[in-house]
Amino acid sequence: MSTIPRRKFMQMSAVAAAACLVQPGREAVADDLPHLSMDDPMAKGMRYTEDASTVDAATRNNPAADQTCANCALVQGNDGDAWRPCQIFPGKAVAAAGWCSVWAPKA
Ligand code: SF4
Repeated sequence: MSTIPRRKFMQMSAVAAAACLVQPGREAVADDLPHLSMDDPMAKGMRYTEDASTVDAATRNNPAADQTCANCALVQGNDGDAWRPCQIFPGKAVAAAGWCSVWAPKA
């Protein structure tokens, strides 16, 4: 038979369940991530730049003028942060003032 009292087992189970609920949803924090280099081959392929103002709006798929990573549907992390995670470049942080050709409007 078990040597752990039932009450102690229930307490330990509750703590383990709470830990499971917290961990899966943890987003990468941009401060933990290396910045995406504009020389990265995938970044080049997506025309990524750290400064969206350098991109001619007429060359964009959707030529709206105010596109930046900060207002892209694919950016993650916190509003106001200068560097944020992006779903297209996992493991890297992109510049909030940046842009790439995958930019998509938020719903
Ligand atoms: Fe920026 Fe959006 Fe491109 Fe990611 S997908 S680099 S957030 S424009």
